[in-house]
Amino acid sequence: MSQEIMKLDMFVHGEWRAGSTGDVVEVMNPAKDEVLATVPDGGAEDLDAAMASAAEGLKVWRATHPRTRAQVIAKMAATLQERAQEYAELYSLNSGGSIGTGLWTMYDVAGRRFEYYAGLADKVRGDTFVTPGEFLSYTLREPVGITGHIIPWNGPLWIGSRTIAPALAAGNSVVVKPSSEAPVTLLKFAEMAVECGLPPGVLNVVTGRGSGMGDLFTRHEALDGIYFTGSTWTGRKILANTATTNVRTVMELGGKSPNIVFADADMEAALDGAIMAIFANSGQICVAGSRLLVQASIHDEFVERLAAKAAEITIGGPEANALMGPLITSAQREKVLEYIASGKEEADLVTGGGVPDDPALQKGYFVAPTIFDGVPNTARIAREEIFGPVLSVTSFEDFDEAITLANDTEYGLASAVWTGDVATAHNAAQALEAGQVYINHYYTAAFETSRSPYKASGHGMSEGPDAIYEYLNQKAVSVKLGEGEGW
Ligand code: NDP
Repeated sequence: MSQEIMKLDMFVHGEWRAGSTGDVVEVMNPAKDEVLATVPDGGAEDLDAAMASAAEGLKVWRATHPRTRAQVIAKMAATLQERAQEYAELYSLNSGGSIGTGLWTMYDVAGRRFEYYAGLADKVRGDTFVTPGEFLSYTLREPVGITGHIIPWNGPLWIGSRTIAPALAAGNSVVVKPSSEAPVTLLKFAEMAVECGLPPGVLNVVTGRGSGMGDLFTRHEALDGIYFTGSTWTGRKILANTATTNVRTVMELGGKSPNIVFADADMEAALDGAIMAIFANSGQICVAGSRLLVQASIHDEFVERLAAKAAEITIGGPEANALMGPLITSAQREKVLEYIASGKEEADLVTGGGVPDDPALQKGYFVAPTIFDGVPNTARIAREEIFGPVLSVTSFEDFDEAITLANDTEYGLASAVWTGDVATAHNAAQALEAGQVYINHYYTAAFETSRSPYKASGHGMSEGPDAIYEYLNQKAVSVKLGEGEGW
């Protein structure tokens, strides 16, 4: 039976606000190819209202005692965790991930991030420097102002919390433009934040397509900073827009991450890691390990066992709690199938290579787990981000060749190394050009650790204590104390 369509508005100044254009975007349930919700396809008038609200919100929030800010953000974290089931279900319906993934991302990722940055809200401090008899200098750290956040569809709250939580902790107001493909959880979260005591105007959510509302958003003069997570292609367009507004930017962009398996690795662990790295969430994860580099001496056995494991992968809609769900849109499925067709011309198909046979999976946007072997690093499937369940396998002879292949990419988001030798692991960690290196595991990087992407994967600090400085301006104050020379 089809679900009733949710009719959602934007969330501005603590209230639901209908769009000024009268147009709506249909938000799909990707597992069923059915309309799940509609949201306004907003325009300039809606954006101006959200920015005016954020200016009001900023006045109140930056003047709020950091301890009170911490308490409100902590309440948002606890409430999200209490209501994790409800948010996980909404996430699954809209983004196609399993309920299990939804629960983990609401409780342990988004909830935990708000909790973490609540703890930092009252710990922002500056430095002092005294030259006796001459000068006293000190630094003041102040909120950047109105911060604009653009979020991709694959983890609206899971990814959104990464920039929204530190922005709020630092005393900024926030305007979010979620993906028009997955705006539901962020809209509901903004309403919940007000119920937790966040003053109206501090967190606003506007909706609309990236090409319309998104483009207007990134050119809006009221913004003091843009915090973007999405593809490198869109990131470049946004950076071009900021050339005239000159705002601060943090860019978390695409990836084509190498996953390197040396012959001395624990093979069973590396096999399971390689499966999770590319097939979890159907490969729709920015740091997905989409390029598997395997040492030649174990290559044949590794690929054979990998293909056997891929054949065991469960695929299904959210209710199936499977490892692989649907892709987000039918257009994305077409794009992935095109990459598979190009892979068939440039490499050897090992398994998968199309839509799964199961009749129950014909309606949603499903693609079978696909592995290509013998992939030259020049092949399209080795160079471009596919954002789907397609793995390229390439073999290497020795350490130097592994690192050369791994770094031969425009991206630098993440990487992984599997080895039994501690020196190989740490030498690789130093040689890899990526913002994250996982050693003998994949994905479970502690988000308490700050990092920035390398190369075309973006710039700016994310996660952990250092990320909060992306949301603070730093002012140097110097006071003349006496007759000294100063310099
Ligand atoms: P897109 O770049 O297509 O979209 C990201 C966001 O940008 C969406 O909200 C989109 O809106 C908006 N947008 C699109 N065009 C414009 C524009 N011209 N101006 C302003 N905003 C615009 O990425 P996807 O949503 O498809 O997400 C997948 C991508 O995100 C992958 O490349 C992935 O690697 C990357 N990503 C990176 C992460 C990281 O931490 N580095 C984490 C997660 C994903 P709309 O959807 O309405 O078009």
